[in-house]
Amino acid sequence: MSASRAAGGRAAIPANMPDYERACARFSWERARARLAGLPGGALNIAHEAVDRHAEGPLANVVALRFLGRHGAVGELTYAQLRAETDRFANVLRALGVQRGERVFALAGRIPELYVAALGALKHGAVFCPLFSAFGPEPIEQRLRIGDARVLISTPQLYRRKVAELRPRLPGLRHVLLVGEAAQIDEIDGVEDCRELMVAAGERCQIAATAPVDLALLHFTSGTTGAPKGALHVHEAVVAHRATGEIALDLRPGDVFWCTADPGWVTGTSYGIVAPLTLGVTCVVDELDFDAERWYRIIQDQRVDVWYTAPTALRMLMRLGAEVAHEYDLGSLRFIASVGEPLSAEAVLWGREAFGLPVHDNWWQTETGGIMIANYRAMPLRPGSMGRPLPGIQAAVARRDREGGHLLAADGKLQLAQAAGEQGELVLRPGWPSMFRGYVGQEQRYRSSFAGGWYLTGDLVRRDRDGYFWFVGRGDDVIKSAGHLIGPFEVESALLAHPALADAGVIGKPDPLAGEVVKAFVALKPGMRPSEELRDELLGFARMRLGAVAPREIDFVDSVPHNRSGKIMRRLLRARELGLPEGDISTLEAIR
Ligand code: AMP
Repeated sequence: MSASRAAGGRAAIPANMPDYERACARFSWERARARLAGLPGGALNIAHEAVDRHAEGPLANVVALRFLGRHGAVGELTYAQLRAETDRFANVLRALGVQRGERVFALAGRIPELYVAALGALKHGAVFCPLFSAFGPEPIEQRLRIGDARVLISTPQLYRRKVAELRPRLPGLRHVLLVGEAAQIDEIDGVEDCRELMVAAGERCQIAATAPVDLALLHFTSGTTGAPKGALHVHEAVVAHRATGEIALDLRPGDVFWCTADPGWVTGTSYGIVAPLTLGVTCVVDELDFDAERWYRIIQDQRVDVWYTAPTALRMLMRLGAEVAHEYDLGSLRFIASVGEPLSAEAVLWGREAFGLPVHDNWWQTETGGIMIANYRAMPLRPGSMGRPLPGIQAAVARRDREGGHLLAADGKLQLAQAAGEQGELVLRPGWPSMFRGYVGQEQRYRSSFAGGWYLTGDLVRRDRDGYFWFVGRGDDVIKSAGHLIGPFEVESALLAHPALADAGVIGKPDPLAGEVVKAFVALKPGMRPSEELRDELLGFARMRLGAVAPREIDFVDSVPHNRSGKIMRRLLRARELGLPEGDISTLEAIR
């Protein structure tokens, strides 16, 4: 299908937000809230908005989730069926004595049970926390511990490989529910068969009358230092999920929507589960990982209307050339959006060549819970820019000092950039419904994310004269690899458990496909000698402990640079790696 013919058909459907300026002038979160169904007495529950409210009306028999399984099988759950399944899961939790507010974790691939568990846990009033199934045992243990997991849903394979050994160290983890073959589950000690419990559970449940500010979701993210941060979100986040799904992704009832993110990361939950379901959309879920031809075929065969993906995937498609896209009928697409890493102007425009539609970049992060800045369907697109703030969101650029600290005026207010084009930190005015409400057990870290009445995102940006934001870089040392945020400290700590290592420093090394890959610089203990065998051993050691976030490259160095207060100077490691000037090294500690 030619690009112009395709675009003509799609253009006939008007955008949900035809005029950005007008929408900003009229928008209020109260009005967005009024679009939800709610529960008696002012209660609000994400699962009610996503599932139950549709389960009896005209959408009851519309497919809510369509699963494309590993072996070609297709499974579907209509909204009515999803209600029954999630009711059963909520009843399972009740029967197990799980209390409201307790944490239910999932460690599974993109299988139906993960989605049922997420929504069922919310119905029960529990807090749901998805884990990325490609994590190794170490990040899994940390997160289960920090998040005080009470229940874990997993599969026999993942549980055996990644959790069984840690189980004695996690006394708070009372129930492990496994999904898979009964015979395999029977062989494992200390676990229960999820399906058996589901069959025994009643089909209808009384949904928990959660308050809008009751905790609902926990998503882990990483900072430069310290343990992973568990960002807590509340039920009223659903106000923003629905509004952003409508405004920024242009979703409407009956659409077929494919969000390629894994629910182990926040995009895969906010936009892979909650937002589209609140809008009565059919979500496509692909169990398998990226494969260009398979992905094109999914868009074609599933007649996907709206596609939400990531720059790494787009770069991989670009590498194969637009001709490959032209072998498929992709004319169902109405809107394409991308998130998670910088999207180059080239990739935006390549969308036109390949799909007859540009790719619309948008920006947000785990802490914001939902899209904050976007290129909207009916707003002039600036290729390379993240777009403009969502109606209802106030964003600004804050000045930083040379050390990356914030500049406060005498009255305690943040100094904001005045001139267009000035670079600084992206800050957001708190108060939107999907804003995180804390980091589990780290009150001080949470409080230090705010200054002068603004939330500090940690990202460096510029804003142009017309109010479009442009991403410049991270303000910290966190690594973004294939869209996944990786804390260097977590990787360094895992490496240091190896007996040969005295010190380790980890950076993101630019990579044409993944954006960045994890690279480690390691100093050996006295008496140890660098060798290819040791390098391979360290790579294997890291891979076993960390899984997908392990370093891809390891270099031996005499010493890892630290500043006088002991912090690893990753900036210097990066400059050396890239052959850039070393900059100010006056704070470098004498070589250790
Ligand atoms: P996460 O919390 O894992 O979703 O990662 C959020 C971080 O990803 C942001 O703070 C940015 O550094 C980066 N990010 C997300 N979206 C974009 C985007 N559109 N352009 C550039 N960076 C992005």
